[in-house]
Amino acid sequence: MENILHETRQVADNVGDYILPLSIRANAAELQTGGKLRRCRLTRKQRLLRAAKSLGIAWGLILPALIIPLLHFALVPVLLVAGPILAYLRYQVSDISISANVKCPLCADDTVLQMDANTVYPTWETCASCDASIQLRIAQ
Ligand SMILES: [Zn+2]
Repeated sequence: MENILHETRQVADNVGDYILPLSIRANAAELQTGGKLRRCRLTRKQRLLRAAKSLGIAWGLILPALIIPLLHFALVPVLLVAGPILAYLRYQVSDISISANVKCPLCADDTVLQMDANTVYPTWETCASCDASIQLRIAQ
């Protein structure tokens, strides 16, 4: 465990993938297992691309919004203002979650969960094998 944390700290200073230890708990029982969370520290260029994509989507929706009667009075200004705000917020995100290797505390199956990039931990997921709710928490 200490080895993983040490390596994590070294890699986290740079960009690229790194692993964080997870503690996994089942809702129904006091059983607890471990796992690994794969995260990625984004480069400045990747952050800019993600921000530009958000801006592009928001401003790209302005054209279809223009042809919707009455709604275009509200949608166009909202999308114009929301685009840069969303892009700024997206640019601020430096680390994203990729996947989690977890061992279910109830059925003991090893599963790889594809995580949403902006997942906030602790989070609840469903075991693919037994449909149990399991809590993923970053281990201290
Ligand atoms: Zn399970």
